[in-house]
Amino acid sequence: MNASPSVEVLQRDPAWLIEEIRRLKAERGAILLAHYYQDGDIQDLADFVGDSLELARAAQRANSKVIVFCGVRFMAEVASILNPEAEVLIPSLEAGCSLEDSCQPEDFRRWREEHPGAVSVTYINCSAAVKALSDVIVTSSSAEKILRQLPEDRPILFAPDRHLGAYLQRKTGRDLILWPGTCVVHEQFSLEALAGLRLEHPRALVVAHPECPEGLLAQADFVGSTSAILGFVVASPDDEFLIATEPGIIHQMEKKASGKRFIPIPGGSGECACNVCPFMKKNTLTNLWECLRDGRPTLRLPEELRLAALKPLERMLEMASR
Ligand code: SF4
Repeated sequence: MNASPSVEVLQRDPAWLIEEIRRLKAERGAILLAHYYQDGDIQDLADFVGDSLELARAAQRANSKVIVFCGVRFMAEVASILNPEAEVLIPSLEAGCSLEDSCQPEDFRRWREEHPGAVSVTYINCSAAVKALSDVIVTSSSAEKILRQLPEDRPILFAPDRHLGAYLQRKTGRDLILWPGTCVVHEQFSLEALAGLRLEHPRALVVAHPECPEGLLAQADFVGSTSAILGFVVASPDDEFLIATEPGIIHQMEKKASGKRFIPIPGGSGECACNVCPFMKKNTLTNLWECLRDGRPTLRLPEELRLAALKPLERMLEMASR
């Protein structure tokens, strides 16, 4: 007679983990929010999948007592800032972001002091402490709209992504003073690999996220936030696309536009997996299950910091919906 599989063996079985995650989620009355860059199996377990702006709105309106946030830490912080009633859990506290790391609060404070009178517009990919020192937060889907609403006569500081800032500068004609941060994923898409893929797929359209450098964006048929790229490929009459953003998004593309072909552009030399965000991938089925089982790690900010970071976030939500 065969012995039943041990718990350790079951814990390595995705089907068992998925079942347990569903059960624990219901037991805890939790809502699961996931970013498009999470693995497909996590996206499929989520109650809502979206980009940073959509996830911020979803967190704000969630009326569950527990929000499990499958994304990176700054996104879970935003959920906790906008919905203090909910307990916010994140499977891995190590899910950081290279943009957040590039912009430490003390350096950012000094930078602001060096530019008195400037409006500080900060990309959501930063810590709560940097948000608290900013005038308004933006996401890649709301940044252009918000910048166009700012007074013409005030200088603008844009942090921390210099490529997104430079793209917005070209789009809006506004002169931005840029912080020198970059996304470790979007900075590395290989132009050489793209050239090779174009030869293999001459009809394919190139779609890119504005965190990519100008040289890559210059080759794109469409530039937009993750959700804008998704909308574009779904609505397009074309059926083949080269993707210059984190390939987690391809899961939703294949679900929403089955029959079309989506080819990720590699990063670096073209031989590494450096187009994959190492921070987003810190969340796994196993630590999501552990997080729901144990009710931790939780993310809670000191109230003074939360309130200070709330102001520029609320300004973003208000200006983005005008
Ligand atoms: S993809 Fe880039 S910007 Fe997004 S979380 Fe990863 S490192 Fe940060």
